[in-house]
Amino acid sequence: MNNKPELLAPAGSFSKAKSAFQYGADAIYCGTGSLSLRSRADVNDEDLKKTIEYAHSIGKKVYTTINIYAPDNMYKDIEKQVKMLKSINVDAIIASDGGVIDLIRDIAPEIPIHISTQANSLSAHSANFWYKNGAKRIILSREMNKEDIKNLINNIPKDLETEMFIHGAICWAYSGRCYLSDYMAGRNANIGDCAQSCRWAYNMYIEEANNPGNIMPVEEDENGTYILSSKDLCLIKEIPEICEMGITSLKIEGRLKSEYYVASIVNAYRNAIDDYYSAPEKYDYKKYLKEIDKVRTRELTTFFFNDKNNRDFQDFSAKQYNQEYEYGGMVQEYNEDKSTVKIGNKLLAGDQLEIIIPHQIKPVEFICDKLWDGETDEEIDHINPGVLGQTVKMHLPIKCNQGYIIRRKKQI
Ligand code: SF4
Repeated sequence: MNNKPELLAPAGSFSKAKSAFQYGADAIYCGTGSLSLRSRADVNDEDLKKTIEYAHSIGKKVYTTINIYAPDNMYKDIEKQVKMLKSINVDAIIASDGGVIDLIRDIAPEIPIHISTQANSLSAHSANFWYKNGAKRIILSREMNKEDIKNLINNIPKDLETEMFIHGAICWAYSGRCYLSDYMAGRNANIGDCAQSCRWAYNMYIEEANNPGNIMPVEEDENGTYILSSKDLCLIKEIPEICEMGITSLKIEGRLKSEYYVASIVNAYRNAIDDYYSAPEKYDYKKYLKEIDKVRTRELTTFFFNDKNNRDFQDFSAKQYNQEYEYGGMVQEYNEDKSTVKIGNKLLAGDQLEIIIPHQIKPVEFICDKLWDGETDEEIDHINPGVLGQTVKMHLPIKCNQGYIIRRKKQI
């Protein structure tokens, strides 16, 4: 069996990074300043320094992105950013522009370079080119199928690492090379500012050419028309096959996602990978998928992994899939009597809750019989999320660490 792959999670803030690590990520990736794709998910320099120090103290890694395609007038800022990243010991920089990569090699040759999926590396030829030009790792293009990936791995140097996406949003365009968001919202996807315009509802009309003004709407259903919206990638069933390929790192997409989402998805894949390595013959994806289902927002697809001719990856319905569960809160302090929980949604005495336990796929379910106000300690029958960081107290059925996430079953 190949070495166990790294599980790589998104983290748009220090607290998301802590959640990702607590629930089993080996490494996280995040943006820096305005120099990465997903610029609205960037962490500031202080937060990043804190994240790296924390990660290293527990034996984990932090990769940062500078995966924009940069015009010349941005290079001064990029140089400053690379020097800063060098000073705080980042574990790798994810980049895609040859000019940026050249600059990193010049001023910080000790920082490993990971070639971003934005560079669209689809072949061993392309991977070998990047290897000769200083790459430590290739992040594979999402448009590859399993045969392409196996072929690539068999035809690259052994010390060139590979990383592939296993879960999360996919682009309607070729891995982010898209001007839709720029056109619709003035937010350029190629410098990290995508507004996800492909997921918006579009009204469509036809007009009879010989009868101007006779406009007839064309709609798929009462929700409108989502002609450009993609399903989300999910390769939980394929984990055994992926582990057997010898990929170095398995990546979850979603730097804008919440702690709740990151923890839930990381925990599902952490358990799936570990269970496969401890008892491959018993691998059954359904229990992991059951957990993924509780947080997903779109239909799921394996995209091109199993079949390059797959056309079933558009989500025309805009149906919401996570109707049954929602984020409840995060344990702040455990106490046998009453524990303090930072709330994430309305909570009511009598609610059916679940504690998501790191490295355990089945959550602990319980009924929250009583609630106390986190400030006054007065018994209450419900609490609404108000001020940021608002807390409540409740009995927890098991000992919990700080940061454990509580999920709430919605009352229909
Ligand atoms: S608008 Fe959609 S397809 Fe275009 S870059 Fe953004 S997410 Fe990708």
